[in-house]
Amino acid sequence: TPSPDRATEDRATADLDLESLEAAHAALRAQDLSLDLTRGKPSPDQLALSDRLDGILAGAYRHDGTDLRNYGGIDGLPAAKRLGAVLMDVPAEAVLVGGNASLEMMFHAMLVGTHFGWDGPESAWANRPSVKVICPVPGYDRHFTVSERLAHEMVPVPMLDDGPDMDVVESIVADDPDVAAMWLVPKHSNPTGAICSDEVVTRIAALGNRARRGFRIIWDNAYAVHDLTPDPIPMASLWAACEEAGTTESVIHVASTSKITFAGAGLSFLAAGPDTLTALRQHLSAVTIGPDKVNQQRHVMLLPDIDALRAHMARHAALVAPKVDATTASLEEGLTGLARWTTPRGGYFVSLWTPPGLATEVVGLAADAGVRLTPAGAAFPLGHDPEDSHIRLAPSFPTLEEVRQAMDVVVTCVRLAIARRRAA
Ligand code: PMP
Repeated sequence: TPSPDRATEDRATADLDLESLEAAHAALRAQDLSLDLTRGKPSPDQLALSDRLDGILAGAYRHDGTDLRNYGGIDGLPAAKRLGAVLMDVPAEAVLVGGNASLEMMFHAMLVGTHFGWDGPESAWANRPSVKVICPVPGYDRHFTVSERLAHEMVPVPMLDDGPDMDVVESIVADDPDVAAMWLVPKHSNPTGAICSDEVVTRIAALGNRARRGFRIIWDNAYAVHDLTPDPIPMASLWAACEEAGTTESVIHVASTSKITFAGAGLSFLAAGPDTLTALRQHLSAVTIGPDKVNQQRHVMLLPDIDALRAHMARHAALVAPKVDATTASLEEGLTGLARWTTPRGGYFVSLWTPPGLATEVVGLAADAGVRLTPAGAAFPLGHDPEDSHIRLAPSFPTLEEVRQAMDVVVTCVRLAIARRRAA
């Protein structure tokens, strides 16, 4: 997203009138709004698209000789593994099906790498002087919370429109033997909407040959099929690129149906190379006697093939796209020349960059006017945005009318913060 050029910026700034913006903000405060753009949750009408899950089994608890109600099946049902394979673009035999949260799978994967080791206890990253983890920024705050919990040292790397800045990533991996892992949301990234280009996918696959043994990339494809465009947006297969590079063990692929069916009652999936999978299976066997096969079968019946999945996602897109469009339309109308933002082609988020040093103030001004925004800095390790500029907007949950109201507030608050600074 290009920065506004100097002339546009000067013109836009000259248009700001502090007194009338203060008055507009006071008027918004008086409205007693209560709106929330904080988290990327599906809206109730999106959740309702999958309400058929309840009752879909109609008592058919036996499947291919398995009693779905009983213990067991750590890998998941074959058909559920195939659903995960479609989502992650990997072979079905490489898939484990988990519970309702891919975040839990990612936590366990990072726990194994950190404390148990991929090749036995001596290989645990925690034996190194420090455990460094590459974090593309802005990124997903809950990834950073996992790393914080496991005492990783987070190394921020710029996220560009076509994926992480690979020149920086490659030099870090080449120079520092303590680098143990990397987080990445490869498609419609949270929160910038970046999509990894073919070149980035190839370079990610090559990292496993440059890094020290034990290096793992968490390829969190949470938005793999969440395109807002009429046609699906393809992405090169990382699995295929890794096979070519001989680095299949270096990547842990993750996805879930949280934003396909029920956010709190869906399925999660993990895929990895055979050795990584063996280590994870062994670990997960100590965690659970087996996943929820009843829910797996319900999902397989709701989404039996790729066509059903695509049709289902098109219904989501019809609900989400107008809200994302309303968000970017507000920004364009009110902040052209004053700020920059993303125009995502999928996923759940719009990233907004205020002029440096104003994000915290804007979030505070919006809160005063009854609009909750994700805290400034949330998309950075330890919640620290060195520029204090980035704000993540999540318009999926409120109604379209609420999104428009909330964005009026956001735009007014950014304009006011700039006008105040200019006057100071
Ligand atoms: N990864 C990313 C990038 C996400 O945005 C989210 C949801 N906000 C998750 C993972 C969480 O997924 P799950 O519900 O499967 O834990």
